[in-house]
Amino acid sequence: MLYTSTRDKTLRVTSSEAITRGISADGGLFVPCDIPKLSLQDLQDMIPMSYIQRAKKILSLYLTDFTPEEIDACVSGAYREGKFDSPKVAPLHRLTDNVDILELFRGPTCAFKDMALQLLPYLLTTASKKAAPDKQIVILVATSGDTGKAALEGFKDVPNTRILVFYPENGVSPMQKLQMCTQEGDNVAVCAIQGNFDDAQSGVKRIFTDERVGQKLAENGLMFSSANSINWGRLVPQIVYYCSAYTDLLESGTVKAGEPMNVVVPTGNFGNILAAYYAREMGVPIDRLICASNENNVLTDFLTSGTYDRNRTFYTTASPSMDILISSNLERLLFHLSGEDDTLVRTWMSALSKDGTYTVTADVLDKIRTIFSAAAADDDKTAGTIRKTYETYNYLSDTHTGVAIAVCQAYRAETGDCKPTVVASTASPYKFARSVLTALNGKAPEADDFDLSAILSEQTGTKIPAPLASLRDKTVRFTGSSAIADMEQRVYDMLGI
Ligand SMILES: *Cc1c(COP(=O)(O)O)cnc(C)c1O
Repeated sequence: MLYTSTRDKTLRVTSSEAITRGISADGGLFVPCDIPKLSLQDLQDMIPMSYIQRAKKILSLYLTDFTPEEIDACVSGAYREGKFDSPKVAPLHRLTDNVDILELFRGPTCAFKDMALQLLPYLLTTASKKAAPDKQIVILVATSGDTGKAALEGFKDVPNTRILVFYPENGVSPMQKLQMCTQEGDNVAVCAIQGNFDDAQSGVKRIFTDERVGQKLAENGLMFSSANSINWGRLVPQIVYYCSAYTDLLESGTVKAGEPMNVVVPTGNFGNILAAYYAREMGVPIDRLICASNENNVLTDFLTSGTYDRNRTFYTTASPSMDILISSNLERLLFHLSGEDDTLVRTWMSALSKDGTYTVTADVLDKIRTIFSAAAADDDKTAGTIRKTYETYNYLSDTHTGVAIAVCQAYRAETGDCKPTVVASTASPYKFARSVLTALNGKAPEADDFDLSAILSEQTGTKIPAPLASLRDKTVRFTGSSAIADMEQRVYDMLGI
């Protein structure tokens, strides 16, 4: 199977090239030329399989230039026993008789980014051996909090790679910041930037596509790749857990073969929900994809009106990983839904960067509406939902998952559509202990996040995940902060070139 670019559909690259390059030279994103299909029999055959076996099956459909042995080595390394604190890796937790929470936060950094970022270093090093054999790979990351830590943890001490992470100085939780700034490993660096996530992401994208910078790296035997969710190697692992979740619903008898489920995803950069879209296109019986946003509801507006408009107030919310106004992965959806019209995609994307807004055609909007629903929940609504979910179902959710549960309930009440539903749960509540405690009790005491975690644990009888508990004793290694304009220089400093 080959991949093309959302901005030049004549391009053809292998999956190794797509993963190694991260982004196409024309500024577009790599997408599969054809989406492989799964039959109902395939899904039923997956019932007795482990998560590793399920992942091998799905990945082998997309990464056709990897040998079966390579895929086996990648997947078995990423999801091996002990890395995730559930033997099922991405288990379902039953909330009600037909709402299941898909727990994607059981990995080493306690956020769903681990699902992809534990695997990406394996995919990238395997791919770059084929596509760029004598280059050292430099991973540049812009993070709204969770990607940075998950990428650092995934790439730490991986031979032939360097990783640099930029995060918005005031846009991540104290726990997220500590997770990044205490990162161990000889090939890692972390730097705050004086701006928000969109500034960080635009800055990284600019450096990444600047030929002059690329030249300078090449002279030093280095080349950029990306661990952001624009990299196909980030998306493809995420398709697996939607297939796996449906398989688990088959196994539990919640759905009969072919009976559809709905999926609710707390959304920021549109990566996670796009993976669900690919699963749906593959033939996994998904009826509606329900996109949940916080106050930064640019996607809710877009998916219901067809107009994307980032010219609006940026809110800092209790769900910081969704505080995003430019959802990069939407470009892939637009390419597919426009009938692969790269000219239209280019027009929309240049309008977005020039004016901050574009409107899709009526035809594309129609297609969006047949697949997607969207709604937003503000911090108050989310806090109320976290409290009620705990009181009613004895289930403690983080703030991002709280947004999704709130939207799930609102969608059901409004539409009466109560199909079996999977709600993606994207972080441990202990990553956002202050917000979660405040949601439960109306307030949180003046204390640091470790003490707050201890209180939360005591109050709810739930366990603090070991990777977060151990942070307290780690040394802070990275304290630097940079103006947006100096990001390029920071890259050189960190690489020593
Ligand atoms: C990254 C993240 C999201 C948003 O996921 P996208 O793929 O960017 O839409 C939601 N919740 C948490 C906890 C995250 O880390």
